[in-house]
Amino acid sequence: MKRLMAATAAFLLTMMLGPVQAESPAGMQLYVFSSGRMMLSKGFLQNLAPMEPKIEIPIGFFVVKHPKGNVLFDTGNNDKLITDLGYWGKLATIFEPKMKPEDAIDAQLAKIGLKPDDIKYVVVSHMHLDHGGNVGKFPNSTLVIQDDELGFAMFPDEPFAAGYIPGDAQVLRAGVGSSKPNAMEILRLNGDLDLFGDGSVLIHRSRGHTKGSQMMLVRMPKTGSVILTGDAAYFRDNVEKNLIPNIVLAYDPVGIVQGYDWIRRMMATENASFFTARDPEAYKTLKHAPEFYE
Ligand SMILES: [Zn+2]
Repeated sequence: MKRLMAATAAFLLTMMLGPVQAESPAGMQLYVFSSGRMMLSKGFLQNLAPMEPKIEIPIGFFVVKHPKGNVLFDTGNNDKLITDLGYWGKLATIFEPKMKPEDAIDAQLAKIGLKPDDIKYVVVSHMHLDHGGNVGKFPNSTLVIQDDELGFAMFPDEPFAAGYIPGDAQVLRAGVGSSKPNAMEILRLNGDLDLFGDGSVLIHRSRGHTKGSQMMLVRMPKTGSVILTGDAAYFRDNVEKNLIPNIVLAYDPVGIVQGYDWIRRMMATENASFFTARDPEAYKTLKHAPEFYE
């Protein structure tokens, strides 16, 4: 009985102190890529910022090499845009995507010697056109997505539909006549996940920008903790000054600020840094593939 009480006390103490910092495996590498660029009004991404002129933003995405498998975080714009801007319909004239053949996701991954089949997990921050565009290029990987984002990608609520291209999500369905619904393995989350069970890659649910947005915290052996924000934080000063995006990009405005709070908490508790994917100035300061963070 005493032993049980001691074990319970130790468990409660652990819970109070928070998760134990696991040792990240040696050899982890974090790479930064971009699948081209597009034009957007800063005022959409940050309230109070000007709507004109548009600014050119990178389409950042990331790869984590881990001894138990490679993880892709976001997939950029659909590569069909390289030859067919019509894939985005009228959005192509609004966003003016600029993609060259070398921006295709296979060409980007080839910079570090990877092919799409070398990716074990495709984690999407959300399914907006510039994040979930190429999920269909990874039929042999496991897609990791919040369950409600998966449904939202096909049937979003008004006025949030414009950011989703039906064709990007359509490829996730198996073909006609299949008894299985999915064309690929899909891990449908309703919360956070320690992806490898060693604390090194943590997926954090962050409803805010969209119904099922998520961020990914990567604990690198030398660099330390890095948060990949997706669109949960567009610009660094969105976090620093609690600035939210335009309402069409803010499904749950309170959730967005709670996401900023989580980033700040990780900065305070484990000295984390955060990498944004659409902030042109911040993006310039990052090491780009084939360079990497250890
Ligand atoms: Zn988005």
